[in-house]
Amino acid sequence: MNLGNESSSDLAAPPGGWPAPQAAYVHVPFCRHRCGYCNFSIVAGREDLVDRFLTALDRELEALQRPGVQTVFIGGGTPTHLNPDQLCRLMRMIRQRFALASEFEWTIEANPEDVTSEKLDLIVEHGVNRISLGVQSFDDRKLMMLERGHSGHAARLAIDRTVERVANVSIDLIFAAPGESLESWRRDLDTAVSMPISHLSTYNLTYEKGTSFWSRRYHGELEPTLDSLEVEMYAAAQSTAAAAGLDHYEISNFARPGNHCRHNLAYWQGQGWFASGPGAARFVDGRRELNHRSTTTYLRRIENGQSPTAECEPISVLQYARERAAFGIRMLEGIDLNRLSTQCGVDLSSQCGEAISQSMSEGLLAWAGERLRLTSRGILFADTVASRMLG
Ligand code: SF4
Repeated sequence: MNLGNESSSDLAAPPGGWPAPQAAYVHVPFCRHRCGYCNFSIVAGREDLVDRFLTALDRELEALQRPGVQTVFIGGGTPTHLNPDQLCRLMRMIRQRFALASEFEWTIEANPEDVTSEKLDLIVEHGVNRISLGVQSFDDRKLMMLERGHSGHAARLAIDRTVERVANVSIDLIFAAPGESLESWRRDLDTAVSMPISHLSTYNLTYEKGTSFWSRRYHGELEPTLDSLEVEMYAAAQSTAAAAGLDHYEISNFARPGNHCRHNLAYWQGQGWFASGPGAARFVDGRRELNHRSTTTYLRRIENGQSPTAECEPISVLQYARERAAFGIRMLEGIDLNRLSTQCGVDLSSQCGEAISQSMSEGLLAWAGERLRLTSRGILFADTVASRMLG
């Protein structure tokens, strides 16, 4: 492959320039309480900060000068924890600060206990056309163990109520909770696919340092699920989703045809994205930037006329190319290595040659025509495959 005389380490940008962000993420850090496994950038029980936050967020967004975007994702935290007036202010702000493309995708994360008819009507009225519900389980015992604030019944009602207003509804489920059996996980999956959802995300429970689950595990109060059972649970998700007609398109994500999450595709395809709010991470003009994680620090900095950015790292073209390969391989359709190499101006077959050979020899990667993709065994070791590609 001829990638020109310039070596990848000399390039200041990929041949076509850095991708112009077409996606915007807005982080709303408020929750009713902190779930024991959560290490996101959130504050619990600080409703007194919401109005200050909205003012600060507006200032941060104003500086972007109303870019055009294809997708908006309002995540958190629990954006729907805001009261109707605050939610309305947030929706108006998004409309004012971004120029939405004609076929935009606008997602908001919501918890089942918050999706009242009033809030649903309000967000739909402003243009939200995709809702991601943090269901996690339909099993009351498991929900209690995960310290969630809703019941299984409330989750089912929330899905029905949401679908009446928004066709594109995604739900998140967690598996491998302490004490969870394969049978009870299968029941969660069966309930999920019997509901009118268009997208399903499944995540295994992880014990992150700094969470109460991590210290309870450390002190022997919580016993993690055996790896072999986790593998069976993951396989159950794959087979149940496939039988229900959901396409397994990314390691943790399944969708009905045409309902793949366009916003998340922008991350996996390295297309660049804006991100605002406490702890938000963006990729713009070849720079990765991370905002201060603490909500109060974020507020103080913006109120004092300072930047909310805590870290800024320019990335090299070579690093960008490796990341495109590493994140892209999470997509089940795999990656076209030649095309990626041309787009990035980096010969990935040689830069990642050793990593690819090793994963192929272990049966984790295989060629499917022009595309390199994870094997069914490789899907279970996707993090290993990806981290080798990152070098
Ligand atoms: S609701 Fe979600 S964001 Fe909020 S604490 Fe629980 S897991 Fe974290």
